[in-house]
Amino acid sequence: MAEAKPLYDTYMRAPLRFERGEGVWLIAEDGRRYLDFAAGVAVNSLGHAHPHLVQALKDQAEKVWHLSNLYEVPGQETLATRLTQATFADKVFFTNSGAEALECAIKTARRYQFSKGHPEKFHIITFEGAFHGRTLATIAAGGQEKYLEGFGPKAPGFYQVPFGDMPALKDAINDETAAILIEPIQGEGGIRVVPKEFLEELRALCDEYGLLLIFDEVQCGIGRTGKLFAYEWSGIAPDIMAVAKGIGGGFPLGACLATADAASGMIAGTHGSTYGGNPLAMAVGNAVLDVVMEDGFLDHVRNVSLVFRQGLASIADRFPDVIESVRGDGLMLGLKAKVPSAELLQAIRAEHMLAVPAGENVIRLLPPLTVTAEEAREGMARLERAAERVRAENLKASA
Ligand SMILES: *Cc1c(COP(=O)(O)O)cnc(C)c1O
Repeated sequence: MAEAKPLYDTYMRAPLRFERGEGVWLIAEDGRRYLDFAAGVAVNSLGHAHPHLVQALKDQAEKVWHLSNLYEVPGQETLATRLTQATFADKVFFTNSGAEALECAIKTARRYQFSKGHPEKFHIITFEGAFHGRTLATIAAGGQEKYLEGFGPKAPGFYQVPFGDMPALKDAINDETAAILIEPIQGEGGIRVVPKEFLEELRALCDEYGLLLIFDEVQCGIGRTGKLFAYEWSGIAPDIMAVAKGIGGGFPLGACLATADAASGMIAGTHGSTYGGNPLAMAVGNAVLDVVMEDGFLDHVRNVSLVFRQGLASIADRFPDVIESVRGDGLMLGLKAKVPSAELLQAIRAEHMLAVPAGENVIRLLPPLTVTAEEAREGMARLERAAERVRAENLKASA
């Protein structure tokens, strides 16, 4: 009899079963140790079982798990105050995931135009290669056919232009446009960094036409690039920003940040969430910020990133038949593969190391931000052996 499979078949899972983690390591049921340079796709920002996060969660678990947003939740006020003091934003709405943070960002932008007397302005312009989540609105925003197919008509109000195509973007702006939505560094799209000049032009266009600029920092935010948020490198601030992944360090948590003006349409009763801003999530989110905002932490991220990036460039130089180039910022790095990236990923896994596939034949390297230079060197040694494996196999195949 065929084995019953009670789970949805939506995920193509690797046959790996991990039972615990320690820092940058994941330990499988059979005791094998894997170097985790995927970090749950940039989620485990402080690695696994970070003592400060474990303690914060335990302490909160003994007090209260859930309150409704019918009441005041002090942890929300603390975390929101810290986020607004550290960013462009004045207001925060808490969610449980990245897609929900984007939903809030989209609703905030539409409601802003509505409340300014422009209900017809509800279109959001996005960029090819984008990924904004898997809800019906966010697959429409992401615009990727593989995620849209078969789910009925694409939610209206999303218009997509090619990545980096300023003339197409200018053409796309019309009387119905509410906002422009962009990841400062595309994650799933293949670690594509948006140039500073492009963000500057977006800001100028938004100001000229009364549009809101929305940044999706779900993957690139919370210290990943060596600044608290990636947009800080450009000096360009958005009006609205979606955050998730790293801010919870592995606990489900997201946030939508906005200026007071951008959030002005979101009055009482317009939006809500049962679990959003739950005390457990707030305890962990505040604990993540305790560490990430500590003096020297982001310097550490930048320093390790330099070591890692130089090493990767040297591997790419020595294996031009396997790796075409290195891209990205901080600890959000990508290896553009010369061979099919699935082959390289498999070889990396054979070296007991975890990385993440992405678009454009890129392998994403997203280690915990706590990774040490020594651990980064261990990662490079494994990547080098993986590249050797791929080369040897290809030589064998062509012999
Ligand atoms: C992961 C991701 C999302 C979606 O987050 P979920 O928590 O999976 O809903 C949205 N935007 C970006 C850039 C992401 O990387």
